[in-house]
Amino acid sequence: MAANEVHHYPCPSCGADLLFDPRDGFLTCSYCGHKETIPQSTAKIEEQSFEQHLRVGSEGTWATNALEVQCQSCGAKSIFTPPQVAGRCEFCGVQIVAQPKSADPTITPGGLLPFSVTQQQAGSDLSQWLSSLWFAPNELKYFAQPEAIHGIYLPFWSYTTHATTDYTGQRGDYYYDTETYYERDSQGNEVERTRSVQRVRWSPVSGTVTNWFDDVLIPATLSLPPSRLAALEPWDLDKLRPYDPAFLSGFKAQRYQVDLAEGFERAKEVVAPLIQHDVRSDIGGDVQTIESLTTDYSEITFQHLLLPVYAGAYRYNGKLFQIVVNGRTGEIQGERPYSFWKIALLVVFVLFVVLIIVVLGNR
Ligand SMILES: [Zn+2]
Ligand SMILES: [Zn+2]
Repeated sequence: MAANEVHHYPCPSCGADLLFDPRDGFLTCSYCGHKETIPQSTAKIEEQSFEQHLRVGSEGTWATNALEVQCQSCGAKSIFTPPQVAGRCEFCGVQIVAQPKSADPTITPGGLLPFSVTQQQAGSDLSQWLSSLWFAPNELKYFAQPEAIHGIYLPFWSYTTHATTDYTGQRGDYYYDTETYYERDSQGNEVERTRSVQRVRWSPVSGTVTNWFDDVLIPATLSLPPSRLAALEPWDLDKLRPYDPAFLSGFKAQRYQVDLAEGFERAKEVVAPLIQHDVRSDIGGDVQTIESLTTDYSEITFQHLLLPVYAGAYRYNGKLFQIVVNGRTGEIQGERPYSFWKIALLVVFVLFVVLIIVVLGNR
């Protein structure tokens, strides 16, 4: 069966493909306008057991007709359903030439935030943003084309865990000593004076601190820098919907690049300062030193989540520029290049004006 013959959501009135419409959240036929609701699932987004998954695995398919393609340049894998095509890579900008194949089994998403910004909106906001940039090279106009950015769901892990931390350390309490010292007064005589000096009395401590961390969100993509991903926050995660392949219709989704176990290691790094903070307040006193700290994580559960962005990439002077637009809020995050020539021309122009003023002033 050829990929382009598989239609998951044919329009009942004209047979064309129904695509997810971010404006109203309906599956919509772009030819005749027919609309269908995506059934509001009452199911809660399942928290899956981390331990059990690592032991036995629980991989599934995203949709019966899901295809997967790997970018030959940056290695990112995206999953999509026809009539969506591989197109350009959202992360490095090259045209993907590899043939899509049936998507390999993967941990299926538990929930997602559907797109609520249309590609058109995102595109016109982006054009506006571009025209507001000073000294941007003309090549950047690439992003003003409607095809420059595409909707893609980014993969995330969300972990919930209980943490029990045993620690040893020192508690320091301030006390004050009176110290005697000598100095010369205005007449030059040596005089004895006293001052109060702060000192620390240390005492050894040990104890246990427990924490409950709920929904620690960890990006499972390596295609965008962590700072850019963080800048897209906050996500309205209270609006998460249970995963339904219908949401994917017309969009791509990136396959996770950080696996489940690796993601949890990153979650530990995120919670470490919070645990340290709690250990310090458990130690009490005025200052603390932590000598040892071991945390046991238990009752770990996870969700595989998809969050919507419009993304595009462009190469300028051999450097990669990526633009991401939050698919919920329309917020634009991107690094921008500066045109050397535009800046150089301005500098020359300013020098020229200064020269003219100087010349006229001397006449
Ligand atoms: Zn139709
Ligand atoms: Zn790529």
